[in-house]
Amino acid sequence: MQKTSEKVDLKEIFDEIDGMRDYVLQLQQNMTKLPAISPASGGKGEYQKAKYLEAELKKLKFDEITRIDAPDKTAENSIRPNIIAKYYGEDKSRTLWLMAHTDIVPEGDLSLWQTNPFEMVLDADGDTIYGRGVEDNNQAVVVAFLTARALMDLGKRPPINLGIMLLADEEVGSEYGIKYLVKNHRDLFGANDSFIVQDSGDPKSEGIEIAEKSVYWLKFSTAGKQAHGSRPSDGNNAFVAGAALALRLRETLYAKFDKRDPLFDPDCSTFEPTKKEANVPSINIIPGSDVFYMDCRVLPCYDVNDVRAEIDRIVGSVEDEFKVQVKIDVHQLMSSPATPADDPMVKCYIDAVKIVNGSGVEPKTVGIGGGTFAAYVRALGLSAVVAGRIYENPHTPNEKASIKFALSDAKVISHVLMNLK
Ligand SMILES: [Zn+2]
Repeated sequence: MQKTSEKVDLKEIFDEIDGMRDYVLQLQQNMTKLPAISPASGGKGEYQKAKYLEAELKKLKFDEITRIDAPDKTAENSIRPNIIAKYYGEDKSRTLWLMAHTDIVPEGDLSLWQTNPFEMVLDADGDTIYGRGVEDNNQAVVVAFLTARALMDLGKRPPINLGIMLLADEEVGSEYGIKYLVKNHRDLFGANDSFIVQDSGDPKSEGIEIAEKSVYWLKFSTAGKQAHGSRPSDGNNAFVAGAALALRLRETLYAKFDKRDPLFDPDCSTFEPTKKEANVPSINIIPGSDVFYMDCRVLPCYDVNDVRAEIDRIVGSVEDEFKVQVKIDVHQLMSSPATPADDPMVKCYIDAVKIVNGSGVEPKTVGIGGGTFAAYVRALGLSAVVAGRIYENPHTPNEKASIKFALSDAKVISHVLMNLK
């Protein structure tokens, strides 16, 4: 594509997107009414919202729309629907994917909301909208629709395919969403494909996330011997051993895996004992068992297996010293390589943000503590960027989003799509 035609294309596309304010409102209003809360959080799942979105996609000129339903007996109609849509580009062998999740978190404490969380409300400023999910992650869904529709209405084909993944179950572990697709539909992820995840960001879209720490969650169950509180030597206090273990793990792991990487904030790996299970119900019982958890976020420069080897060594020494048995269960382990800062999509995204969001905006690459579904894509060796122009107020009462932000993100993505080489 020549430079001049590129510019003309984009001006036209940007104007088209600017004319879609009402479309943003319509999509947001309808999605907010259909709370897609995971059964694990007391909801019915994504079925109704996915049916609505599938019908909306069908109104547009996509070349392929596929639904991949992950079975889940606890959800409405026993499925967790994932929707995949594709609008072909001139080169059909490659796709720029926009990934969004359809599920939302519950409203939380209703008394903290000034409006009904499941009725979208437009502020008097004419731009801010309120409702559960309007930002996390409805805005990304909206941006995907805007990007596709602008091209379709103008009768344009992008240089490569535009793909949209509307995924289930992001808030509760992605078992029925991205994990299910990677496991059962690996062919969806083409070797030359690139991915944009608009599920984190800031009001200027300056943070362009290209790397995540490994997320390593562990459960430590210590077995000692229960006894009367007045006769500790008849038993073996598992709480004391567990407490010693928690402190030694924390101290040793921070000291041993102490490299710093300025891409991240905080710039080091973190190893924190977090959740603690209740033990005995009375003060006068020496606890025979102890259970605590650790949330480790490990910089990508370290192999998690090395962290595990050190954990096993410390556990062994506590077992010997306190004469207890400690069982370790892994609750989560997600490692992914970083997307290189000089990846063409990263460069395209940074350029696009500068052009669309104007002077005074300084987008830069960053790393985070982990937890987006970009990690699953990166683990396949594919490049992914997590970014977005959002207030960054997910899961809060009075969750809000901006129509203006959605329009500008659709322009950013159109710019990336038309320029990605
Ligand atoms: Zn989200």
